[in-house]
Amino acid sequence: MIKGKFPIDKFKKIETPFYYYDVALLNETLNLVEQESSKYGFMVHYAVKANANPKILKLIAERGFGADCVSGNEVQAAIDAGFPASKIVFAGVGKTDREINLALDHNIFCFNVESIPELEVLNELAKSKGKIASIELRINPNVDAHTHHYITTGLNENKFGFSMDDLKSVIEMTRSMTNIELIGLHFHIGSQITDLNAFETLCAKINELQDEVESWGIYLKNINVGGGLGINYEHPNHIPIPDFESYFRLFSKHLKLRAGQHLHCEPGRSIVAQCGSLITKVTYVKKGGTKQFAIVDAGMTDLIRPALYEAYHRIENISSQGEIEKYDVVGPICESSDVFNKDVELNSTQRGDLLAIRSAGAYGEIMASRYNLRRLPIGYLSTEI
Ligand SMILES: *Cc1c(COP(=O)(O)O)cnc(C)c1O
Repeated sequence: MIKGKFPIDKFKKIETPFYYYDVALLNETLNLVEQESSKYGFMVHYAVKANANPKILKLIAERGFGADCVSGNEVQAAIDAGFPASKIVFAGVGKTDREINLALDHNIFCFNVESIPELEVLNELAKSKGKIASIELRINPNVDAHTHHYITTGLNENKFGFSMDDLKSVIEMTRSMTNIELIGLHFHIGSQITDLNAFETLCAKINELQDEVESWGIYLKNINVGGGLGINYEHPNHIPIPDFESYFRLFSKHLKLRAGQHLHCEPGRSIVAQCGSLITKVTYVKKGGTKQFAIVDAGMTDLIRPALYEAYHRIENISSQGEIEKYDVVGPICESSDVFNKDVELNSTQRGDLLAIRSAGAYGEIMASRYNLRRLPIGYLSTEI
């Protein structure tokens, strides 16, 4: 069984469960993103919600990327980590006055606005500060991302954004608002998208929409295509970095940008997922009638993706070279859904072995909870242990 490379001797000194981030892989991923996006002059805003560990944020900010935030605290965390406010975008359907004021005070690049009442509140709050808020309108393009229904966001029935039919009246409304400047359109169709055709469909919709908007005599400086590029959860060792080359090429080929128009994107998962693993210790091996369970010290409170959306994570026993056997890998939480996976092929497993739950760098540590009064997992960089 091919496994990831882990500093097991160092792991033995750290209290489990914990997140381990391979900085070399993160850097390699960031190198590729930089190389491929800069070919076309595309602007990358890392989606902070995927992983907001301050050490990870700092590594990404140092490379000159922007940030995509979905709460006031994320805006603050991005600023604290060194992302320039001039590269911060702020999306979300329920931005509160406090969050809007914080973002206005920092003079962020742009608000991605999702509704008319939000537009009105933003205009008022900007007016009382004597500022002009730059905005992109988030459009719901009704594109099916062919991903899990909890993480598809671009269909008409979702709560996000404006429908295409309302665009003209909303644009007219923004023009009558004194403290709003419309600088672009924003799209985000879902997450863990592995079929690039969904992005091609998105490009076609944007092209149509741009023609229409232009026929109204309106010029937009920016097109923001959101995030959503998927990773390979089955083969983290063989495919540790997503195909950013094809991803960026697709937009350059299929999206008809106007002269001087900038393309922005907001990758989250595709940047941080593969560099992270949840390291957990086997507390007990329990033999049932037909099954055996590896009961580990990590649970759904540390990594909720399997319980929340039946997500698959590859699991490796990094302490054992024994014969392959099958185990249900389960956590200690008092919930039946606290199962990382069933019938997992692991090298013969004993109490005390360390397991690596792979591809856990995105929507892992950040979604941890204290249910059952558990300790929140700590995240360690490979360079600091
Ligand atoms: C979640 C989110 C992203 C990032 O999505 P990934 O699938 O992690 O790339 C980007 N933009 C917006 C608006 C989001 O809500």
